[in-house]
Amino acid sequence: MRPQHVAVLRCFRAITYPRYNARAMAELSRTHTIAEIIAAPLGATALDGTPATLMGWVHFRRDLGQLIFITLRDRWATLQCVFDPELSEAAHSVAEGLRGEYVVAFTGYTRARPAKELRGYEGGDREFVVMQAAVLNAAEPPPFLVEEEVKASEEMRLKFRYIDLRRRSMVRALTVRHQAVTAIRDYLNGRDFLEIETPLLARSTPEGARDYVVPSRVHHGTFYALPQSPQLFKQILMVGGIDRYYQIAKCLRDEDLRGNRQPEHTQLDLEMSFASRDDLFGVLEGCMQAVWRACLGEELPVPFPRLNYDEAMRRYGSDKPDLRFGCEITELTPLFAHVPADFIHDGIAQGQQLHGVFIPGASLSRKLLDEWALEAKKQGASGLMSLELGGPEVKGSLAKYITDPQPFVEAAWSARVPAGEANGGQGRPPSKAGTWFIVLGAERRNLLALGQLRLKLAQTFGLYGSQAGTLAPPVGPDSVPVGVSSQWQFAWIVDFPLYEQDEATGAVTPAHHAFTSPLASDIPKLDSDDPEVLLTIRADNYDLVLNGVEMSSGSLRIFDPALQMQVLRKVGLSDEQIEARFGWFLAAYRYGAPPHRGVGFGIDRLIMSLLNVENIREVIAFPKTATAQDPLTGAPAEIDPAQWAELGLKPAKEHTGSQ
Ligand code: ASP
Repeated sequence: MRPQHVAVLRCFRAITYPRYNARAMAELSRTHTIAEIIAAPLGATALDGTPATLMGWVHFRRDLGQLIFITLRDRWATLQCVFDPELSEAAHSVAEGLRGEYVVAFTGYTRARPAKELRGYEGGDREFVVMQAAVLNAAEPPPFLVEEEVKASEEMRLKFRYIDLRRRSMVRALTVRHQAVTAIRDYLNGRDFLEIETPLLARSTPEGARDYVVPSRVHHGTFYALPQSPQLFKQILMVGGIDRYYQIAKCLRDEDLRGNRQPEHTQLDLEMSFASRDDLFGVLEGCMQAVWRACLGEELPVPFPRLNYDEAMRRYGSDKPDLRFGCEITELTPLFAHVPADFIHDGIAQGQQLHGVFIPGASLSRKLLDEWALEAKKQGASGLMSLELGGPEVKGSLAKYITDPQPFVEAAWSARVPAGEANGGQGRPPSKAGTWFIVLGAERRNLLALGQLRLKLAQTFGLYGSQAGTLAPPVGPDSVPVGVSSQWQFAWIVDFPLYEQDEATGAVTPAHHAFTSPLASDIPKLDSDDPEVLLTIRADNYDLVLNGVEMSSGSLRIFDPALQMQVLRKVGLSDEQIEARFGWFLAAYRYGAPPHRGVGFGIDRLIMSLLNVENIREVIAFPKTATAQDPLTGAPAEIDPAQWAELGLKPAKEHTGSQ
């Protein structure tokens, strides 16, 4: 050791802080985060430079007797810290007592790590030699280890969320979430939007879910409703002349938590006055570009393709089509006109149709075909037929009826024009090998069933790559993954039906919130009471879809009070009910309401897509379980008996109170 190093070492006082100690915090201050010390020039905090102080958690400890190695972790990184009694006996003796998740402060210097020890090591080219160590807080052994391959159940992870949040993937999720929201805010702020908060304690804002309600202590027997969205308030802001509004808003919906729903989700809520559809689409597309740049460093091509609802259903059997691959649904009825199969002709005579999807490269055994037939039935089809092309002979359940496969070959070619066609068409001509999966039945049923089947087949046959960017290898000897033009396929789906038919009751019900405007050309149809006519009315609305997931929905709003009354009456509300629930809102429309339109855009889903995770709870700091509970705080919880009285409420059954 060089003499000046010895001198520097003497500067470190021998004292240590073995327990939680306010003095330690008073005397020490963090000079660097771990990421900063890794990025600093190696000499800057070296022994002959200024010492550095790091603070964080004991991630991992290895005691080799003479030397102790501690991996220190903070939010940004981990770094190996070395305790050598020859350099600092005091620090070494503190290290002997350190355990996992102790909170510590280490003062020392960096030194180069041997090159052969750098593989898989996060600390760059260096490690940290500790001259002085302080315990800022001790920790009990954690219920699970802070590691990426977390072995704890989700329930445990949520109960001990503060431990779980220390994991790198959680930090990453929250960081990306912050970056995305910041990019959105920056983009909109730069375009004269105002971010305005709207109340949480409000009246019902119906979005089709149950309200969460909050009893009023001051006015017994009355309740606030937590907003299902800021819908009515943002519209009032437009009447108030605000013109361009947005908010990163919490939306609270008491609904069954199927799949990836949460009782409270976050959306970018946005509204614009005097804006055309193109204006609004441009703003959202700009937001997405800003997010992709900020979070992934990627440039998204805009404008996004647009499909109307009817076309999306016809081509993809879905109102949220996945456009990362082609394999569109094709109507094959005309091709069967001369196919000698009685059951097909009987079906056609009864008004049924034949639809199919062609999957390139798919060649299936009898057993697999049976499995897919079962799947098709699960999706609502009455059965599934197949026709395998490209081999020396035609195979599949329909093969025996087909004398000339050529029309099916040609149909396969055109069906496989990539969806990307709407996007500039990057697809190459497909090989002829592959299988038609065909259903016979009523058109809508066929489309819905094939829409689902198309997704599952694409997954099985690797027709799209994962969102992580790797395209699946081509399937089959001479096929190519046609239609994969980008890993991010956005699309606007526009002009949905204003009403839908309840399958169980047959009743005609609104398909969206009641403030959605019909397309101008369809407004006269509202005068009809005929369900057939009502079901043909289209809304002036739009969803933004990414890779088959609905990210956002929005619309032009009704801004004519008479039309709004008409639509509310159509959903079965009496004039008295309309007045009681929405009188305050309609009143505003009498004082000069501008034309306005907007969207709600799901932030949770956006982050899930960016991170390619499938569980919404991975992108929310404090989510609820699938049974709407919070294992961390124990919510929902009983309340004190005194609170019942204060609120003027009585429990329906005997409650013992909380605590
Ligand atoms: N309020 C709608 C929703 O939350 C979105 C919109 O129409 O702006 O789904």
